[in-house]
Amino acid sequence: MQSPEQCPVPCQRCGAGMSPAPDGGTARYADVIPLVCRYCGYAETLTRDDRVRVSRERVALLRMAQDAAEAPARHAEQIIGMRPWLGGVVVGGVLTLNALNGVGTAMAAIERAGPAMDAAARLQALQGVCVTPLLGIGLAAGMFGGWTLAMRRYRALVTPGRWARSPLSPGAPARCRCCGAGLPEQWGAMVECGFCRTHNLLDRAVIDQREALLLSETALHQARAAGVIARANEFSASFGQWSLVGAAAGAVVGGVLGYALALALARA
Ligand SMILES: [Zn+2]
Ligand SMILES: [Zn+2]
Repeated sequence: MQSPEQCPVPCQRCGAGMSPAPDGGTARYADVIPLVCRYCGYAETLTRDDRVRVSRERVALLRMAQDAAEAPARHAEQIIGMRPWLGGVVVGGVLTLNALNGVGTAMAAIERAGPAMDAAARLQALQGVCVTPLLGIGLAAGMFGGWTLAMRRYRALVTPGRWARSPLSPGAPARCRCCGAGLPEQWGAMVECGFCRTHNLLDRAVIDQREALLLSETALHQARAAGVIARANEFSASFGQWSLVGAAAGAVVGGVLGYALALALARA
């Protein structure tokens, strides 16, 4: 556990961790700490006695705002954890076996009937066994495709929101994305902040894209200082929609393919 003195005092306006004022302008008295926000320029002076209390209060507020902003993403994470696509794979598998069996039986009947069965009758016999299973298989496959697409978008849009903040200087520790406190080095892991308990993903990109990430962090804090609260997880609300679109498209494709298959087999 880090000592409370190591926790940054979040800026009242933008939430970024404040730094000691460079010139220590008001540090004439030993019991006051002049602080300045390097992101939005807000300056304030705290007494040494107040520092830890003020820091704790503001970190708690930040944490509450963070929890509210991330609620939709957590909902999506629960859905991901349930692996709903497993059901689709099982249904698709059963339908495939069923289809092979049904087509085999129908073909055997056509063979037995021989020339007594005309093309229209053959199509009649094959239609049901081809169209229904392929419709189901297309539905399951389309759902799976839509899910994969949604997961890719989730990883691209939501996962970076979990990343820890980049080190302020090369070699310095990565910082908590909520309160800005330094984090222990555990690359690739979700690391809990010792101050605010926020979970941070220590992705290597935090180092590799350090400069770009620091710039976007500045933009974020400045937007916050101007009263804009970023809705970081808008995508999460539409999570699952792609599975439905995929399922509908897959069912149509499956139905058409099934009919085409029945036609081809009937003509053969
Ligand atoms: Zn600020
Ligand atoms: Zn934190």
